[in-house]
Amino acid sequence: MANKEILNYIGGAWQRPVSGAGLPVINPATGETIAVSPEGSQADVEAAVQAAAAAFPEWRAVPPAERIQYLFKFKQLLEEHFDEIARIVTVENGKTLAEARGELRRGVENVEVACGIPILMQGYNLEDVARGIDELMFRQPLGVVAAITPFNFPAMIPLWFLPYAIACGNTFILKPADRVPLSMIRIMELLHETGLPAGVVNLVNGGKAAVDALLDHPQVPAISFVGSTPVARYIYARASANGKRVQCQGGAKNHVVVLPDAEPETTTQIIADSAYGCAGQRCLAVSVAVTVGDAQQWFRDSITHTAAAMKIGDGLAQGVQMGPVISQASRQRIEGLITAGTQQGAKAAVDGRDAVAAGLESGSFVGPTVLDGVPAGSELAETEIFGPVLSLIHASDVDEAMAIIAKNSYGNASSIFTSSGAAARKFRNQIPTGNVGVNIGVAAPMAYFPFSGWKGSFLGVLHAQGRDAVEFYTDKKVVIERWPREWSRKF
Ligand code: NAD
Repeated sequence: MANKEILNYIGGAWQRPVSGAGLPVINPATGETIAVSPEGSQADVEAAVQAAAAAFPEWRAVPPAERIQYLFKFKQLLEEHFDEIARIVTVENGKTLAEARGELRRGVENVEVACGIPILMQGYNLEDVARGIDELMFRQPLGVVAAITPFNFPAMIPLWFLPYAIACGNTFILKPADRVPLSMIRIMELLHETGLPAGVVNLVNGGKAAVDALLDHPQVPAISFVGSTPVARYIYARASANGKRVQCQGGAKNHVVVLPDAEPETTTQIIADSAYGCAGQRCLAVSVAVTVGDAQQWFRDSITHTAAAMKIGDGLAQGVQMGPVISQASRQRIEGLITAGTQQGAKAAVDGRDAVAAGLESGSFVGPTVLDGVPAGSELAETEIFGPVLSLIHASDVDEAMAIIAKNSYGNASSIFTSSGAAARKFRNQIPTGNVGVNIGVAAPMAYFPFSGWKGSFLGVLHAQGRDAVEFYTDKKVVIERWPREWSRKF
């Protein structure tokens, strides 16, 4: 995969970007540069918008049942090339092959759900809202819609948007993360093989300049974003000031509560997977475990043991349990936060700083880390680390644990581990996060449920996936009709 040229897919053809070079694409396990993303420009975006706008009138007129035929073919091609795509994800992102397969599976599930659009997109109606008058609601596509996506799920997150957008009759522009452009290039090549009409889906690579051009473009009425909270806020403000509908999924700081009656072995295993899977670079990764009562000691001992035993390395290699973080800059940032944690009163029970994976001295590895005794309310307890670092906080009861979570500015996800139905129910009912797990570590909603997220983790109203996606990608048209008999010719 050495130095593949990063092209844009516009109007059904691969095009060289107008802009100059942007970020290098680096295999984070080896440190090798495998491509260079373009910087992205207003001119590239303009070409994509014009191609998408030109395709829209024809595409919206294609019956939904015909539109989804392309998605059935797309799914088939994704299945046939499943391992090939997963390998690309691993090479450019660093996660293990099993994790890359897992993310692609979650992406494909969204293609499957969008194949239900002839039912999902239906409106409703009522005869005789007044004598002889009927009222009908139709859902119609918006036009050219765009999504801007992050580095941590190069294949899955674009598929939270693309299938629904086009199934609803919109035309679509994707601006993927410039650090991981290769997965979507391969996926677009497969989409092209379906025979999808030119311009229905377009890919513009690049960074901020391309994003800004989308946010300001008068022919793009809807923007979806997934990434960090500061960028989410910026995108939400700028796009909505331009009159667009916007959904922005931001960062996270996810907590698990471990009650003394949790089953120790599975609880530890699930929380280790949640904290260290994808090297902690998941918006649903567990970042803080709040132990209650007697759980403090057994959980600290078992998670320390499990974290210390994990094998790090190249995600392509057999037996590797955790890959690198995305970049050396990210590694330095995470190591700096571990240091800050120890300065703020925590003890590094397992310290992943200065980790080296055998034979991969240029890789950006951080080892699994356990920070014990992080003071609740400290800066580290509030900051999204986005790396393989689990902080332990102790609480004397479940109310105190829930108050710690409620105070956090993020609200993406939280979980509780317990064998008490009453405690679980109280948690589920009262905890202010949009995704909740009960004895589940990464409570990732299936494609037919909304990917929720509250507080600083989400700006907007309608979430990604499922019915919310259909609502987001359509406008409602309400028709009120009167057809008096006396106005009609008699047959
Ligand atoms: P990021 O915010 O740096 O980048 C996301 C996208 O925005 C990329 O396409 C990038 O090119 C673009 N971008 C970056 N800076 C920009 C700017 N100043 N102006 C305009 N566009 C800009 O995020 P990331 O580092 O790629 O991804 C990690 C973050 O994403 C984490 O905070 C993680 O929690 C979050 N995330 C959230 C969810 C969720 O569902 N809530 C899912 C995945 C990731």
